[in-house]
Amino acid sequence: MTVSTVARTKYEAVIGLEVHLQLRTNTKIFCSCSTHFGDPPNSNVCPVCLGLPGALPVLNQAAVTMAMKAALALNCAINPRSRFARKNYFYPDLPKGYQISQYDEPLAEHGWVDIEVGKTRKRIGVTRVHMEEDAGKSLHEGFPDSDRKSYIDLNRSGVPLIEIVSEPDLRTPDEAFEYLTRLKTLLLYLDVSNCNMEEGSLRCDANVSVRPEGATKFGTKTEVKNLNSFRFLHKALTYEIERQIEIVDGGGTIQQETRLWDSKEQRTYGMRSKEFAHDYRYFPEPDLLPLVISDEWKAQARQSLPELPDARRQRFIQEYALPDYDAGQLTLSKQLADYFEDVAQGSGEPKLAANWMLSELLHLLKDANREISESPVSAAHLAELLKMIAKGSVSGKMAKDILAEMYSSGKTAGALVSEKGLAQITDADQISKVAREIIAANPKQVEQYRSGKTATMGWFVGQVMKATRGQANPQMLQELLKKELG
Ligand code: ADP
Ligand code: ZN
Ligand code: MG
Repeated sequence: MTVSTVARTKYEAVIGLEVHLQLRTNTKIFCSCSTHFGDPPNSNVCPVCLGLPGALPVLNQAAVTMAMKAALALNCAINPRSRFARKNYFYPDLPKGYQISQYDEPLAEHGWVDIEVGKTRKRIGVTRVHMEEDAGKSLHEGFPDSDRKSYIDLNRSGVPLIEIVSEPDLRTPDEAFEYLTRLKTLLLYLDVSNCNMEEGSLRCDANVSVRPEGATKFGTKTEVKNLNSFRFLHKALTYEIERQIEIVDGGGTIQQETRLWDSKEQRTYGMRSKEFAHDYRYFPEPDLLPLVISDEWKAQARQSLPELPDARRQRFIQEYALPDYDAGQLTLSKQLADYFEDVAQGSGEPKLAANWMLSELLHLLKDANREISESPVSAAHLAELLKMIAKGSVSGKMAKDILAEMYSSGKTAGALVSEKGLAQITDADQISKVAREIIAANPKQVEQYRSGKTATMGWFVGQVMKATRGQANPQMLQELLKKELG
């Protein structure tokens, strides 16, 4: 695109995200059909989720509790009374001709999420969290178009969703990316969804507009759909902001419309404009009572919340004396944070635990494309290795190799050390003996050292280490060498 850097700096983007999240209940929101992903098409259906005449919805209590947990973790106020509404539209994968959602009386409102971009913290408002049912899925197959077939799978019809709508508080693609990352981290901590974007458990639509820098009124927005990865969200926003700036800066106006991200072409294109926008003709769902949340129910949901990432990060800083960066990294997922605490407590060495996890273990896992929960090195086994390092019975250099072997073989540090005779040599006589041999065999270097080139010490250390296969205790070696040479 051709927007000049000058034009770009004259404008500011305004972004608000709408995130749909599949709750991980066992059964659907208004019937007892399974929500299991990947079952044969149309095997998890009944009159309710097929929308057959006369079938009546019954609200799933577990879905409401999960929705409440999410809303509470997002700092929302839960409305004591909310209401389901019919959102009417026609689509082949929507058998009833309407979706049961919430409209003017949502489950929860007025929350926020704190994000951090670079070193700056920023609070992003959460307008509302409401509950709704998912639609089915259309599958298209065949090419060319004359051969094209479409299939409808209604297994997903009636799976519980929440929609999380943000305030238009985001200003850059980076902020939007960070907001979605935080949101996902938080929701994974709560264990209310698997947040899997490929399976469609987490979906995000982005609303974006631009305005001249300093303006107080928002510009006309477009809504970008079809963003099925974090990367696409970032790319689509970057593209869309440039597109809008180019139009506005050229004196044109933005059409309010829904646009789709085309990841092949790396661009957005218009899908439907406001003129053809749906009129959903919302009205209260007559087949369901208003949703009344008692204080007890709300209190139960609140009590069932785990320690949330921000709080846990602060506790790691205080309880384990970790630097803020380490604490932030280690609380990026609940599994990672749990693993860290197991290692820290098992070894009594929290800082070592943080270092070895962040610099070694996570790299090994990343290379193998594995999650911490799939680590072949258990927390207990890593703790054992760290204790050996802290005691000085293995050097840091040796420990690195040992960890790599623990990772590939599944063996414990203790087993590997005795198997290979790798234990560190801490016997002074043994180290001195080797040092004396090296000194005797290298009179030239000894001369250099004694004439003041003390840097030669490093060379001697290297020689002894080589002779002992890296097993000499480094502190002892330094001292003993100094004594023998001096
Ligand atoms: P609509 O009536 O089109 O659904 P809403 O006011 O409900 O619009 O907002 C939907 C989403 O769009 C919210 O996330 C909100 O923050 C965002 N939004 C609203 N106005 C703008 C704007 N001018 N520019 C960017 N995002 C906006
Ligand atoms: Zn059903
Ligand atoms: Mg709206």
